[in-house]
Amino acid sequence: MSKDNLLNFTCSDLEKFFLDMGEKKYRAPQVIKWIHQIGVTDFALMTNLSLTLRDYLSQHSEVKAPELIKELIAEDGTCKWLMQLEDGHSIETVYIPEGSRGTLCISSQVGCPLGCSFCATGMMGFTRDLTVAEIIGQLWLAVRKLSPDNTTRTHVITNVVFMGMGEPLLNYTNVLKSTELMLDDNAYGLSKYKVTVSTCGLVPEMLLLRDQSEVALAVSLHAPNDELRSSLMPINKKYPLKELIAACNNYFKDGKRQVTIEYIMLSGVNDKIEHAKQLVKLLSHGRYKVNLIPGNIVTHTDLEPSSQDNIDLFRQVLLDAGINTITRKSRGGDIAAACGQLAGEGC
Ligand code: SF4
Repeated sequence: MSKDNLLNFTCSDLEKFFLDMGEKKYRAPQVIKWIHQIGVTDFALMTNLSLTLRDYLSQHSEVKAPELIKELIAEDGTCKWLMQLEDGHSIETVYIPEGSRGTLCISSQVGCPLGCSFCATGMMGFTRDLTVAEIIGQLWLAVRKLSPDNTTRTHVITNVVFMGMGEPLLNYTNVLKSTELMLDDNAYGLSKYKVTVSTCGLVPEMLLLRDQSEVALAVSLHAPNDELRSSLMPINKKYPLKELIAACNNYFKDGKRQVTIEYIMLSGVNDKIEHAKQLVKLLSHGRYKVNLIPGNIVTHTDLEPSSQDNIDLFRQVLLDAGINTITRKSRGGDIAAACGQLAGEGC
């Protein structure tokens, strides 16, 4: 009989699990703490559970994260980890340290079906969605890796972004459950402002997420008009900019949230002044923050990164229009860990 992997369970899932077996539901936060905060995988060590319960869990359950099989560390300290899943597929997770901040970029699918032209993941096609255990397992493993003595030190990871392999909103339920665990004080206790789901623009799921979760939203826009965006990102044919921006503007209704726009800068493609002006017009109705991402070389494409001068000129147009705009530092480019470069090929 296969065992239940308790990494798949949120606190409310575990409450139900314990109630169904005739146990008290307060066992759920106890077990969540052991697994996620303390990193214990052996039920025999969960000393505040009864011996009978420990024994039952040992026989019927397990705590199983993906296996870390390779690590590459870039000159700037960025780590890329290749993780193997039980069925032999692999995914990549990237850790980006920066002063007191540590960002973990996690994957939500093996491959991706959306086929954006600048993206190495898109080129590998789609295999399958990740389970909750495989998504949260990346964070679980990263915390253990960065805290080798296995003590509670989740502060090395202050931010989590769903910007690794896959389109997170295509794996909506498992991503939502994983974010629940990230925010759970008995698990990782991350701030809702520091867990970001990044989407290429799946409008119905964006609206659902707005109502069902408080995590931050980032939208990979990458082009300011439909013709160009559809050529770079085929999903735009299904959800064109008018619908996408309307869904973003919906996030501002409660007066608190902002939406981050990701815009990869590709030489001669989307980095002209006229594009910046179109972008200003598009974003004129909400609290947007724009991240300009210096493009990275993805093999098998003829796309080239924009020059620094073009990025600066583009940014100035947005700043002049009062749009909070930063140029993101490209990190881990020498180990193919930067935006658009993850392809599960290993290190
Ligand atoms: S950019 Fe995101 S949505 Fe597009 S192909 Fe890559 S992983 Fe998929």
